[in-house]
Amino acid sequence: MNTRIWCCKSQPNVSFKNDAHTIPKSLGGKNLCESVCDTCNSYFGNMHDKLPAIETVIKETFNISRLILLDSSNDIGKNKSLARFKSVFFNVDMQKRKVRIKPKFSLRKNFQVDLGRLLRRGIFKIYLEERERQIGDALDDKFNFIREFSRYNLGNYPVLYFNV
Ligand SMILES: [Zn+2]
Repeated sequence: MNTRIWCCKSQPNVSFKNDAHTIPKSLGGKNLCESVCDTCNSYFGNMHDKLPAIETVIKETFNISRLILLDSSNDIGKNKSLARFKSVFFNVDMQKRKVRIKPKFSLRKNFQVDLGRLLRRGIFKIYLEERERQIGDALDDKFNFIREFSRYNLGNYPVLYFNV
């Protein structure tokens, strides 16, 4: 695969030395997307405009969800040892089942809105990379809005979820 799904550049204009995990390795992700160049890979893993990296926001959200899901007070978490997780942004109190943004972040203007946007961009990012890995059609024009949103921070799209 020579063309990169995010910037649409090809070798030799972009390098491809680092593994790009579709789901962060620290969350147990094992799948790699071969169509992510090093520049785009590093974009998702680093801070921009003083905001956290998209990858950091994904890790935080899923680690906290996992903590809540595996809480020993419910059926799923019963008899499982709790994974230790230290959050960058939140104070997590499992006894009281409370997740609060740390004061140094809650005082920052628009921080929750920014965090929500980064999370949505990250979920779309995982979708497109997994789509490329499984189906191989991520370069299709119909996914341009995901490229613009996740990689270039343009537009605004919701993530819908269903409680089942
Ligand atoms: Zn790229």
